[in-house]
Amino acid sequence: MDGIVIAFVASLAVAFAMAAGVAISRGRALDAIDSTLRDAERGAPKPAGPSNEDLRDRVGRLRRRAEVAELALEQRLRDLGYLADLVGVGIVRLTDDLEVEVANTAAHVFIGREPGSMVGRTAMEALGDHRIEAIARRARDEGAAVGEVAMRGDEGAAFVVRARRSPILGVWLVLEDVAELRRLQRIRAEFIDNLSHELRTPITTVGLLTETLARDAEAAGDAIPAKMRERIGKLEVETGNISQMVSELLDLARIESGGRQLHLDDVDLGALATESTDRLRPFAERQGVTLRVDVAPDLPAVRGEAVRLGQVFANLIHNAVKFSGQGTEVSVGVRLDGDQLAAWVADQGIGIAPADQGRIFERFFKADRTRSSGGGTGLGLAISRHIVEGHGGAIRVDSTEGQGSTFTFTIPIPVAATPPAVAATSRGIA
Ligand code: ADP
Repeated sequence: MDGIVIAFVASLAVAFAMAAGVAISRGRALDAIDSTLRDAERGAPKPAGPSNEDLRDRVGRLRRRAEVAELALEQRLRDLGYLADLVGVGIVRLTDDLEVEVANTAAHVFIGREPGSMVGRTAMEALGDHRIEAIARRARDEGAAVGEVAMRGDEGAAFVVRARRSPILGVWLVLEDVAELRRLQRIRAEFIDNLSHELRTPITTVGLLTETLARDAEAAGDAIPAKMRERIGKLEVETGNISQMVSELLDLARIESGGRQLHLDDVDLGALATESTDRLRPFAERQGVTLRVDVAPDLPAVRGEAVRLGQVFANLIHNAVKFSGQGTEVSVGVRLDGDQLAAWVADQGIGIAPADQGRIFERFFKADRTRSSGGGTGLGLAISRHIVEGHGGAIRVDSTEGQGSTFTFTIPIPVAATPPAVAATSRGIA
């Protein structure tokens, strides 16, 4: 339910308005001709050309056609009204002065008004919420606007409001009730939160026991058969994987349910990139991958939570090394990019197929399950995206299969922290 509905309804309405205009003006013209003919019959001199009888016939035929057209128009207008109610979204048309011209039943129900009571009122009066009015105003001025509005006083009521300026006059608003969707999302997040929480303690215990067992087996040397030592080693690795998955699930559930607030501080993103890279250097060395850091000098601080942003760097660097071959290089850096900082992690690894690039930030998505088995949970990028977006930034990937991938995330610089001199040199640093 989106722009298509607005465009569809708008085009129908424009077509009907034009048809109505034609039908009405045609009807008026016929009335005028008809009354002229009646005058002529009452004694006015006969005009040259077709007889009054012929003209009357023609007028009769035209009048019947106009009546059929009016009927068809009425039928279509009713269909339009029916369709508008059938789609289950609120549809409101405002004039350029933001006065309600048309509103379907669903719009009245969503806003909690008597059917028909919105027409003729200002958007503010009719919709009763300045945020919806602001979305309509923005659409009128800029062409389109969208926003989610949670209604106060009405537990859980929430709408996504999409607004578009009509191609001729006025603004169309579509209100979609997302209260149930948000409720289900909250329940799902709470369920995952509870489940992961319950699993965490026993898994930590199993992890510690396995670790001890592995150490004992190592110490026992040949007293324990090699096969058994190998199995204990595998047990340790898999327990580590489960433990990582549970803690990532818990993280994701908390972030998604909004239950985890960011503790904002001034963060030196460049220093964080260097620290995170250093922490993963031993892992990269084991994989035969070289790590390089490239941080621009004199970068302003950003507002953020260092631990969380460090987690994003760690996820990206870990992936970059994991999906790269021996002898390749991974570069990590931060630069100024207009009014934001852009951080990147670039590898020369296997790359990501174009069809998968749009999906890798979804939870549990793995581009190649066979290749990424043994370690990956498919949650790291979903968590990273949430963290970055929670800081007001964005994350994206550019990748070519067989050549490598570059993950870039941006974090806005607080307005007061952008000295003009630094901002002016941003292009040079890039
Ligand atoms: P995982 O734990 O599987 O690494 P992520 O959410 O971090 O989970 O990544 C999701 C998937 O995206 C990975 O399984 C992999 O298919 C793909 N991917 C992520 N980073 C890279 C990379 N640098 N190169 C190639 N593929 C990657």
